[in-house]
Amino acid sequence: MPPITYNIPASMIEMYRGRNLIVRTDNLSELDKSLTPEALKNIVYIELLTLKDSALQNSQIYNTPLDLVVSDPVRDLPRLYNYTQWADKHPVRVSVPVVPGFVKTVKLATALNFAVKLIPGQPDSQRVEEMADVLNFYLRQSTVSQPVEFFHTMLFAFYNDNPLNLWTVCEENPFQYRYITDQGRETISARFTDTELPDDLNTFDKTFIKRLCDEASECLNCEFFANCEAYFKWPNRDFSCADVKMLLRTLQEAAAELKRDYAASTNATEKKPL
Ligand code: SF4
Repeated sequence: MPPITYNIPASMIEMYRGRNLIVRTDNLSELDKSLTPEALKNIVYIELLTLKDSALQNSQIYNTPLDLVVSDPVRDLPRLYNYTQWADKHPVRVSVPVVPGFVKTVKLATALNFAVKLIPGQPDSQRVEEMADVLNFYLRQSTVSQPVEFFHTMLFAFYNDNPLNLWTVCEENPFQYRYITDQGRETISARFTDTELPDDLNTFDKTFIKRLCDEASECLNCEFFANCEAYFKWPNRDFSCADVKMLLRTLQEAAAELKRDYAASTNATEKKPL
């Protein structure tokens, strides 16, 4: 099993020395000053929680992957331009919550050549409609060259009949990721910071997910269970998945279409006279 990656506040870098780290900070300049070259080697990427710093082109962290965490899509939209030069050096991703205004942010981020990670939560019908618009944009717009997650990885999971699930794709699988709160408590991800999880995170799949499924009867017969495992049933177990299933179905159909296109192109090549 690959080593666990810990998502920690920048103040805890010393405590987690030698581990794979995602480091959260509000201030890139301060982080840059405090980091030793040794500590920098273990950083998988930096999560920037407040989009105000401009690019630090001469800093030691300039070569480190960066995740720009949008908290207010409308306010943060123009601030994305501050980071365009980072994308020339290494991957930049924009993490966007599915809240009003997120569509414009996603479209600008892709135009600036940034990858995107949607933070879906439990979206209402209007937000799912907007997610469907983004999905269509991602699938059909030829100018989109960067992944939009979770769509991108789920598309290829469906294409390869791979039961990769949303907990993993959204970096919330505790066998791969642990989130350390600002108070030092170990949990699953940012959406679990206010929750006391009674279970040992090492038995997460056998206890937490199983209990969610038992309580959320909609999951029991869900066609997408292998790729979702009740991901959308937190925190409200009564959340209705009718709309999000439509998104997953669109991805499944797009994967089938890709397979058909690939098979047709392979047949056409094979039939070509020599
Ligand atoms: S899509 Fe909804 S019903 Fe289906 S497994 Fe996921 S959370 Fe459960």
